[in-house]
Amino acid sequence: MARSTTQVPAAPGQVEERAKSRKLSALSALLPFVWPYRALMFAAIAALVLTALISLALPLAVRRVVDNFDTANSHILDQYFAAALGIAALLAIGTGLRYALVTRLGERVVADIRKAVFGRVIGMSPSFYENVMTGEVLSRITTDTTLILSVIGSSVSIALRNLLIFVGGLALMLLTSAKLTGLVLLIVPAVIVPILVLGRRLRVLSRENQDWIAASSGNASEALSAVQTVQAFTHESASRAQFSEVTELSYDAARRRIWTRALMTVIVIFLVFAGIVGVLWIGARDVRAGDMSQGALVQFVIYAVMVAGGVAALSEIWGELQRAAGATERLVELLHTEDTVSDPETGQSLPVPVTGRIAFEDVTFAYPARPKVNALNAVSLQIEPGETVAFVGPSGAGKTTIIQMLLRFYDPNSGKITLDGLDLSMLRRDDFRKAVALVPQDPVIFAASARENIRFGRLEATDDEIEAAAKAAAAHDFISALPDGYDAYLGERGVMLSGGQKQRIAIARAILRDAPVLLLDEATSALDAESERAVQVAVDRLSEGRTTLIVAHRLATVKKADRIVVMDQGRVVASGPHDELVAEDGLYARLARLQFTDGMAAE
Ligand code: ADP
Repeated sequence: MARSTTQVPAAPGQVEERAKSRKLSALSALLPFVWPYRALMFAAIAALVLTALISLALPLAVRRVVDNFDTANSHILDQYFAAALGIAALLAIGTGLRYALVTRLGERVVADIRKAVFGRVIGMSPSFYENVMTGEVLSRITTDTTLILSVIGSSVSIALRNLLIFVGGLALMLLTSAKLTGLVLLIVPAVIVPILVLGRRLRVLSRENQDWIAASSGNASEALSAVQTVQAFTHESASRAQFSEVTELSYDAARRRIWTRALMTVIVIFLVFAGIVGVLWIGARDVRAGDMSQGALVQFVIYAVMVAGGVAALSEIWGELQRAAGATERLVELLHTEDTVSDPETGQSLPVPVTGRIAFEDVTFAYPARPKVNALNAVSLQIEPGETVAFVGPSGAGKTTIIQMLLRFYDPNSGKITLDGLDLSMLRRDDFRKAVALVPQDPVIFAASARENIRFGRLEATDDEIEAAAKAAAAHDFISALPDGYDAYLGERGVMLSGGQKQRIAIARAILRDAPVLLLDEATSALDAESERAVQVAVDRLSEGRTTLIVAHRLATVKKADRIVVMDQGRVVASGPHDELVAEDGLYARLARLQFTDGMAAE
């Protein structure tokens, strides 16, 4: 929750800081995504150039028609118009083709970008998510990619087309009348200056707008994912107010952006057309004086209008391109974030089968979010294959951190952690994690069937294996009793299951995984006696023959463990079997008296 409140005021600061680096060149980062479809791209460019050339050629034809209107015979006139029809057809086909090619290219590239970004963030270690809200990541995957879609799918091609028209039109204007063109060019600086000045402001504003949108969806997703807590604490109106504040801020930023852009459009269009009218005026006098043919003036005017239209379109597209440049920057930032944990190029290989010997050698670690507090302080531990070790200690002692370090969600600041004698940082994460099964404290249930939820433990498992795992986890009976049995849909986050049932699903998953190392974070909440017993039986079966690390909250669990490791403030303060530790009458004896839930029902 704390993160959402810091996130909200943080956004504008980020805007100021990040906006400066934003340039259109950021769009070049899209090239690697476009390159695989270069054939499509070049075909689109060809269609685009073709239509631009045809547009540029049309005024030449118009001039001939106008100048020969009185003299030419009707036969030649017919030919001109027939040719014009043919050209119209070409123009239509070319434009349609360009649209189809360009839009398809855009959709294709954006689909690839979405996949690449998701592929990247799903593998990021947890410290990444401590700094970035998931809603923000989602907004980058959806909103930012949509912006890029609009750029590749239309803006770039409109810009390119107008650029061609602008350059070509200008050259042809020059050929038609150098004098009038010179006059037109005098106007250009007057148009460029407001574009540059307002354009810069627009860039900052649109980045701000985007950041606020991201902040608001981050805020919403957090509140929605905790909707029960929000309602239980009657926090709805506060949540509404919070969301409405961020949303209004994003609207404000949008409003300022819109006004700036509108102002820019007004200034640019007025200057352009005022200039053209002035030039026409002079042109009209030249025609009267006989210095220029009527057709030439008409041709010049058409080119001038085309060039002006090109400039106007470019100025409008400019802002959009910049918005997309910002979006690209954010996505590329995401794609290139260095993970705090990284795999070696070629990892060492674990012995087959993995025996499950674990060692912590003088491990000291502080979470990146709290670098000053050591969550683990010079921890050394040896755990033999097949041994069951229970970790106990007051809350905040570092028990869960041990589990997280073993999964290599974080790297130690000093010391090392080994599995079968190999340093975890020398192994590829997806490799050694195959040897590890995790039963988290608060098991995650996905919005899928019971069967699929268990299959999560090992994707290639057969239905029979799933059922066997469920039986071993004492989950078979309650699953069979569900309306559709194993095909029963468990609802988002398992809303249809009790705590004990969720745990047994998680245990079945771990059984199915059949890994030599088992990490178990026992639920703190007490279960009813029957669930308790069922879970206990399942855990016993699961830990048989595996190296098992349990963050224990129940007396029954610690009594069964081969060894108990007592932790306090990131240190191992005692270790040994239950009776020995009780006899020492230290922290453990106190905890055993006060803190453990009984769990005796399972005995
Ligand atoms: P336990 O499981 O024994 O209750 P933990 O291992 O969860 O304790 O926590 C050990 C210490 O690390 C605590 O002081 C806790 O506040 C801190 N801590 C845990 N997770 C994080 C995190 N993601 N970022 C910063 N500090 C954390």
